[in-house]
Order: sequence, then C-alpha cells, then structure tokens
Amino acid sequence: MDVHSIRRHFAFADFGRIVANNAASTQPPRELLALYRSLADRYENVHRGQSDASREMTALFEDAYDTIADFIGAPDRTGIALYRNTTEAINSVMYALLTEFRDGDNVVTTMMEHNSNHVPWYALCREVLPRLGRSVQHRLARFDPRTGELDLDHLAALIDSRTKLVCCTAASNFLGTRNPIGTIRGLCDASGYPQPTGERRSRLLVDAAQLVPGAYVDVRALDVDYLAFSFHKMLAPFGVGALYARPHLLAAGLPFLYGGDMIAEGRVFPDRVEYNALPWKYAAGSPNILGTIVSAQALRLLLDLALTPGRPMYFGTGRAIERPAVRAAMNRVADWNRSLTGRALAGLEAVDGITIYGPRDAARRTSLVAFNLAGRDPIGVAEALNRAGVEARAGCHCATLAHHALGLVPPASCRVSFYLYNTPDEVDRIVAAVAAVAAGRA
Ligand code: PLP
Repeated sequence: MDVHSIRRHFAFADFGRIVANNAASTQPPRELLALYRSLADRYENVHRGQSDASREMTALFEDAYDTIADFIGAPDRTGIALYRNTTEAINSVMYALLTEFRDGDNVVTTMMEHNSNHVPWYALCREVLPRLGRSVQHRLARFDPRTGELDLDHLAALIDSRTKLVCCTAASNFLGTRNPIGTIRGLCDASGYPQPTGERRSRLLVDAAQLVPGAYVDVRALDVDYLAFSFHKMLAPFGVGALYARPHLLAAGLPFLYGGDMIAEGRVFPDRVEYNALPWKYAAGSPNILGTIVSAQALRLLLDLALTPGRPMYFGTGRAIERPAVRAAMNRVADWNRSLTGRALAGLEAVDGITIYGPRDAARRTSLVAFNLAGRDPIGVAEALNRAGVEARAGCHCATLAHHALGLVPPASCRVSFYLYNTPDEVDRIVAAVAAVAAGRA
C-alpha cells in the first residue's frame, strides 16, 4: 500500500492529526469534497425535470446505484435501497417485516450488536408487536467474555423452526470480532422456517457497517438476505447508507416511506396505487442526491487509492467496476488494516495495567482495538490521548450490551481504530501515548 501517496488526498494529514477514530467515521478525501462543490453547476432534482441539468443529475444518481451494486457484488441496482445510514437501513427492514411476523415467532440477535442492530429488534418484540396483539420473542446469543468470540453453540440453540430472522454484526465495533457469516447462514438454513416468499429458512440480516469499508464483500457469495452499511465509514461525507436485499424481498416487501417518486408515473388512483420499479419503490421523496453521487464516487476513489493512488482509473468515470479489481483493492485494504491492527495489539499488550477486549489475533478482528487502563477512567484516557495528538474515542461505542456483558458500564472503554491512510509510525505513536498515560506521564 502506497500510504504516503494516499495521504496526499486528505486534508487532515496536512495538520499532523493522528486520526484513530475511523470506526466511527473516516476522513473525506479532497476530491470528494471538491466533487460535492462541483455538482453545484448542475444542481437539480432527479426524476423531476426535463432540463439538461435534471437529466444529467438523474443519470449520475442512477449510475450511483449501479456502482454501489457492483461494489458489493449485488446482481444489479434492484437490490439496493438507500437511506441516511446503517441505522435507518436496519429500521427499514424492521418495518418491512412488521406485517410478516406471526404470533410465536422469534428474532435472534447477539450480545455484541451495535444499538442500531439491537434496539430496533428489542422495540419490535417488546413494544411494537405487543401493541398489535402479537407475541414475538427477542433472543440474544452470548459471546465468550474471555475471547470476544460469538458463542456459536448458544446461537445454534436459540435458532429454531419459529426463527423468522437472525440479525448479526459481521464485525463488532467494540470487541473487533469478525463473525463467521457462512456458519451463521448455515444455522439459518437449517431452521426450516417457512417464509411467505417461499423459502424455508430463517432470513439473515448482516450489519456490515464495520465490514464493507475494509473487506472484499460479495453479497451473493455470503448468501445474505439483507446487508446494511454506511458510506461515512468509507471515505464519503455523512448522509447515505445502503441496504442490500435480495431483489425478490424488496419486490414483495413494504417500503418504509410512501410518497412521491416511489409510485409509477400516473398510476395513483383514489383506491389503487402502483409502485415504481425497483429500486425507486424504495426512494420516496426527494433523496440525498449529492450525497448519493459522492458516496458512489467514494467507492470508486477507494479502489483507486488502494490500486493506483496517483492515477485515477475509476474515480470520476462511468467505467464499470469489475469484481477482480474490487477483490484486489479491498484485499489490499484488509491486509493493510490487519497489519496496523496487529502492530497496535502487539504494542498495546506490553503497556502496564492494560486490558484489551476481543480476539488477540489481528486476523480474527476488524481494524480497531478497545482497551482500559487500570484505575483510569476511559474518557479521561481519551482526553489525555487527544492532548497528545491522538484522536481516539471512549464510551460504549453504542455497543452497550457487550459492555454490560463485560461489567464495563460504567466506565465503558477507550478505542483506537485504523483505516487505509494510517501509518505504522502513527500506530507506534499511539502505543507510546497510551503507555505514557498508563505511566501517569500524560
Ligand atoms: N453498526 C455498527 C457495527 C457500527 O459500527 C455502526 C456505527 O458505528 C452502526 C451500525 C451505525 O452506523 P450509522 O451511525 O451510520 O447508522
């Protein structure tokens, strides 16, 4: 990875900032911010005008869906619904399935979920469905508190013939653990749950907010029913998240939002409405047009940065994104992130009084390390690191259940997380800063 060329694309690198809060959000490259501004001269709504500007904006907007589909290996844009973020994407599935749940069904999630993939299912089972007179259980699979690995035996025991849906993170944003999606898919397949769409297996929703930014993802190979992620964790500015769903589920499902553009032109009557073709059935109201275009370009730029940092191949072009290029680029990002994480783990393990959470092996985790220092409040640790120029994060990281499971509420944990622009030297400086805080020198 040519990290020094990569860093030239980012303003933060000019200011000597050590950005180590990438699991929350990554930094935007200069090109994407410039693209945002440059779209001003073509500024128009989409699907709502006959001007050249509107047509051009519409073409860019629709192409963005193709790029996103290509990046994750979806068959085409009909499997993509765009929302504000991962949270909204997951909530959209909760609403889509509201009418499908039968009395006596259950939803299985895990104790290591981000609140975005816990609270919607908690609310569905404990608040929404009971008000509709239906009883659906919410079951939570444990993880091993020593290793941070999901307890697959417990998960298997929770999944039965009434499990409509299993919702699981691909990678924990606190423990760092990467979960075995293939194995979990197998457990869903074995349940035999009869879905209204004909399949006889539990559906699988994967929260991929911490996976897609740093791994090669192929939704068809993963065989997931739903997969959600956010672009602000992979170079794009804030505002757009994606839901991949099997197109037949989107075709059969109920949208989260109803209104303009999600209906077929002219096909609204007092007693009947015909919905628009996919994916526009899931794009009611004026969408985040600039955000969508820039998010798709972020994927293109990510490929360029990983493969040819000085020479754009995909950014700013309509060139189709080929699977081998995505695989090569994202494997490079994954290798780089893994080497930074391995270096951080090795350095931090030697710090006096440190407790590190999650798997010890960098190959088993995503690119973050959460820890505590004996006798130190994690918020105070993160503030001390900030004074030393290291931008970390402390708190529950919205992974509140996992903190409870480890007896860490309060005081939660401190976390450092890496992305493709971080350097080994920065990791060493982070480790030195943590060691200084542990020794009471900062
Ligand atoms: N899931 C995981 C694993 C995350 O790490 C995050 C963000 O930190 C989310 C979901 C929520 O993402 P967003 O805030 O973009 O909705």
